Amino acid sequence: MRRAGRLVAEVLMMLRDKIKPGVTSLELDTIADTQCRKWKVKPAFKGYGGFPFTICASPNEQIVHGFPNTTPLVEGDILSIDFGLISEGFYGDHAITFPVGKVDDDTQRLLDVTRQSLQQGVDAAQPDGYLTDISHAVQSWVENAGFSVVREFVGHGIGRQLHEDPQIPNFGSPGAGPRLRPGMTLAIEPMVNVGKPGVIILDDGWTAVTVDGQRSAHFEHTVAITENGPEVLSRIDW
Ligand code: MG
Repeated sequence: MRRAGRLVAEVLMMLRDKIKPGVTSLELDTIADTQCRKWKVKPAFKGYGGFPFTICASPNEQIVHGFPNTTPLVEGDILSIDFGLISEGFYGDHAITFPVGKVDDDTQRLLDVTRQSLQQGVDAAQPDGYLTDISHAVQSWVENAGFSVVREFVGHGIGRQLHEDPQIPNFGSPGAGPRLRPGMTLAIEPMVNVGKPGVIILDDGWTAVTVDGQRSAHFEHTVAITENGPEVLSRIDW
């Protein structure tokens, strides 16, 4: 799990270094796919439920599950990239919303609050705590900042499968759900909208967009619960 987590993080850092105005999300998809071949690991999303690409690339008002395409990125855009792979039979899953060039202050705040809400969720993933401690920590952080949490998609257990039990909603009261125990591995992934919390799925059957056209951000880590607390697996020391 540590290896899979490190490799997904390495790919997202590679993509981060490529993102700028004029680049297309399909080019980023190719970079991720090529790197998987080099490492002889398998991209986790390609073919999953029929998803046709290596990365999910969701710009601006797209929340998650966007298709990479040939539209050049524009200064001031944001691009959410979600990427998973399988290494030695174990999955890693990781997402970051990147700014394209310089973004406006409101957008930067959305990125900051969403990233911080993930950290709040990770900090709440304590051995002998409860699953919805994570949910509550994320929701409080987001709503205190005046944004809304997407409810249609949730985090999940992860290990030998991409999506395992339990589901991890990004909302709810603390102190419920299964107890958290050392050895559990979870994908915690808040999706945060500037405006209304709802979701529309486009005709491609995958792309989830906001109902009001306002922007959305998504950050995700694969996290192991240890006796000493949560350990983020999908982060490189840098
Ligand atoms: Mg996930």
